[in-house]
Amino acid sequence: MTIAVQLAYLLASILFIIGIKLLGKTKDARRGNMLSAVGMLVAIAATLITLNILSFIEIFGCMLVGGAIGLYYAKKVEMTQIPEMVALFNGFGGLASLSVALSDHFLKTEVLSLEIDPVNSVSIIASVLIGGITFTGSIVAWLKLNGKISGQPITFKGQHLLNLALLLSFLVISVFTFLYQNDPMYITILVAMALLVGILIVIPIGGADMPVVISLLNSYSGMAACATGFILNNNVLIVAGSLVGASGIILTQIMCKAMNRSLTNVLLGGFGQTVAAGGQDGPAIVIKEIGVEETAMLFDSVSSVIVIPGYGMAVAQAQHVIRELMEQCEKRGIDFKFAIHPVAGRMPGHMNVLLAEANISYDKLIEMEAINDEFANTDLVLIVGANDVVNPAARTNPQSPIYGMPILNADKAKTVIVSKRSMGKGYAGVENELFGYPNCLMLFGDAKQTITKVVSELKELG
Ligand code: NDP
Repeated sequence: MTIAVQLAYLLASILFIIGIKLLGKTKDARRGNMLSAVGMLVAIAATLITLNILSFIEIFGCMLVGGAIGLYYAKKVEMTQIPEMVALFNGFGGLASLSVALSDHFLKTEVLSLEIDPVNSVSIIASVLIGGITFTGSIVAWLKLNGKISGQPITFKGQHLLNLALLLSFLVISVFTFLYQNDPMYITILVAMALLVGILIVIPIGGADMPVVISLLNSYSGMAACATGFILNNNVLIVAGSLVGASGIILTQIMCKAMNRSLTNVLLGGFGQTVAAGGQDGPAIVIKEIGVEETAMLFDSVSSVIVIPGYGMAVAQAQHVIRELMEQCEKRGIDFKFAIHPVAGRMPGHMNVLLAEANISYDKLIEMEAINDEFANTDLVLIVGANDVVNPAARTNPQSPIYGMPILNADKAKTVIVSKRSMGKGYAGVENELFGYPNCLMLFGDAKQTITKVVSELKELG
């Protein structure tokens, strides 16, 4: 039986690894997701066979309730709210690891009166620390993202010192927890400290840096699960936790690069202040407007178009009408592509998911590095609800809080049309000097409504 279970765990781990590999390519991602889900099913089934503590009825009851809540929210959630949902997932992952660590500690010390060995003790403490931080950190991130608390950085003097002092004290109390295992006071203090550190490291982070935090917390939830795997002596949990931990860190690094933030900055927290401080207005920008009819005529006259989607496209749900625009352009023999910035929207891959939903083929979506040189030879760029990711200040203005962030070189195209509702700022809260450039025209209005009108005009033009 043990060998069969270990083999099942091995199979589940292989499925997880192949699944993650397939997630790397958009066209294989669904298959990757499915394989990983099968891996999870195998792992759960194998674990249930070995479990003899809880009854199957209790386990299935819990799975049914949890599954129903998950299904309800997954169906209900808007695309723009996915980061909030991911934050909650991470938080509950951390809470689960923390709970398992605590129950193992109390089972051994209070119920079975056993002595916990050093390896087990380190795993319990790691699980409490990382799980606790992940839980409260994710809840704060969730509250910030859904606007229940201010998204602005919350800072105070000596914040980093306090975090450091708390972490050092955590180490000292960890030793007491190991030495005086039967005294519940020490482990309780550890839990409280971990929960507090989670809050303290996320509150100073605000504005455009939030995606990095979500992906980092995702990695933490994996590491907490990995530590829990050591507590329970469960190989598949160790493998799955390490995979989540490692992929979360890789994604964090990709996000850091895309937002020009260093990982050290993220780990120390507090770096969002620079972005918030940069929200002041610069000199007034003089803009030129364009109407729906002129926009249609421009589309009718060009031979190459690049569309840059951003958060506003998600808000307007303009992806379907953009597909219609693409069809109109392709009918005219226009070369039509999409330029995808790694942090366009509010989560990694946000634009890819929306455009795929509108049945726009993956090979039309070109990543930033691959397309940036093409802008100079492009007749027309249509920016749909994107702002920060096309702000030339990131290249030209060392005073700008987004200076150094890689951007899409939309400004280099012959003509740029920006579809947005007003002169409102983007997520980073800074003015966009592109809107005042001589080659830039503003098409004001909700993206879905205005582009629908442009498409009708194009249809009339034939
Ligand atoms: P931005 O947030 O910079 O800009 C979005 C623009 O969309 C706004 O200027 C807004 O202007 C416009 N908009 C809103 N609603 C509509 C609508 N209905 N129709 C047309 N336009 C609309 O978006 P970007 O995608 O350019 O940049 C993403 C930003 O978010 C970056 O700063 C990034 O760091 C950050 N971020 C990214 C995450 C990720 O993982 N991708 C996660 C969290 C943050 P107006 O109000 O005038 O219409």
